[in-house]
Amino acid sequence: MNSNKIQLYNTLSRQKEEFVPINSSEVLMYTCGPTVYNYAHIGNYRAYIFADTLKKFLEYEGFNIKHVMNITDIDDKTIRDSQKENKSLKEFTEFYTEEFMKDIKSLNISNPTKFTKATDYVDDMVLLIKKLMEKGIAYKSSDGSIYFDIKKFKNYGKLSRLVLDDQKETTSLTPQKYSRIKSDEYDKENLQDFALWKAYDEKDGNVFWKNELGKGRPGWHIECSAMSIKNLGEQIDIHTGGVDNIFPHHENEIAQSEGVTEKQFVKYWMHNEWVLVDQKKMAKSFNNFFTLRDIIKSGINPVAYRFWLLMANYRTRVNFVWEALEGAEIALKRLYGLYAELGEAVGNVNEEYKDRFKKYLEDDLDTPRALTVLWDLIKDEKISPADKKATVLDFDKVLGLGFDILQKDIIPKEIIKIAEERKLARKNKDFKKSDELRAKINSLGYEVKDSENSYKINKI
Ligand code: AMP
Ligand code: ZN
Repeated sequence: MNSNKIQLYNTLSRQKEEFVPINSSEVLMYTCGPTVYNYAHIGNYRAYIFADTLKKFLEYEGFNIKHVMNITDIDDKTIRDSQKENKSLKEFTEFYTEEFMKDIKSLNISNPTKFTKATDYVDDMVLLIKKLMEKGIAYKSSDGSIYFDIKKFKNYGKLSRLVLDDQKETTSLTPQKYSRIKSDEYDKENLQDFALWKAYDEKDGNVFWKNELGKGRPGWHIECSAMSIKNLGEQIDIHTGGVDNIFPHHENEIAQSEGVTEKQFVKYWMHNEWVLVDQKKMAKSFNNFFTLRDIIKSGINPVAYRFWLLMANYRTRVNFVWEALEGAEIALKRLYGLYAELGEAVGNVNEEYKDRFKKYLEDDLDTPRALTVLWDLIKDEKISPADKKATVLDFDKVLGLGFDILQKDIIPKEIIKIAEERKLARKNKDFKKSDELRAKINSLGYEVKDSENSYKINKI
């Protein structure tokens, strides 16, 4: 294991802390995933690119990561919009889940160890809610919904730094006693008891579950507590999301999970800052958003968006403008071009550059400075092209800019030469020779697929 100290900014303490996993053999990480009621916008993708880069970096440092990301397929919005489109919740959310999967692939985001759909975990949510009721931290209201009693959980507010007015140091944040909030999203000014289980309402149509809690459906916050505990256990190392998840979602996740287990739920809470448009948060509700389709339609490689985000630290806000993205794409193409000029041989990773690269990332994932190391390396005439190539491919394990894909796409000249010979043999109907040449290509680690007049070579 690496002896350098990794520093990560923990929202819980509002400072950088040395990263020491609870169990050194496996890092447990949970990322709040998409609400699949529409195409995710590129602001949302900052959250997933950040989590992916963090995971890739920890793997680069030698850790094994178990990473879970949920798919929120039950909430107020998925129900509302599936009804608008006259589709079942399943059909509606599966479509956007598929689109999400395609998008993350094109951003070089690797799949988590496991995706968990909220609808598969309702029984686990019910179990948690029952435990909270048994402990007297949750109660049923007259309409049949079940709420978390925030005054019964002494640490309520520890993540978002809220202080309830009856918890000594008074702030302006005064929970309205005995009032409750049923909707999943609300702001700090509306601090109230929040819904764990929402009693059936006609607006829910055919979306409901029937169990000991009554006829209804879970609230959004309990979903993540249940999926995290079920798949990763009661205590995990890292939980990620965008800063807007800090309150109420993550605050409520802590209350629910710790309310049940009485153990610290998450050791490091990590949050990415916003993508803005005209200095305002990119959001569906402001109608100022772009999707990955908009980027692809403009002929820009989605990886350029990843590259653009890596140029800023994940904790700084970035203002999205098309010119900046175009600039990032030009720079990325330049890198690809310089990389292609390095030739085919792959040498050894340059340890000096690697140390510099790691040192920056170990400082709370400082990707902008890590990228400067990549540029310096590519321009350094003292390093051989083969060693440069090995080092770029090594860095790309964290950056995810797709140099390894380019590598796969580069077919060595000698293979092309054999394939051309084979094409000629086929033309001359010398199938014996053609088969021999195919076998030779295979033995060199490539395969050839014939079409009517041509062929395609792939790495096996
Ligand atoms: P949602 O699907 O609304 O739950 O959001 C998915 C993720 O995107 C969450 O982690 C949010 O915090 C994050 N997010 C939403 N809007 C932005 C934005 N403009 N910039 C960065 N992250 C965002
Ligand atoms: Zn969540």
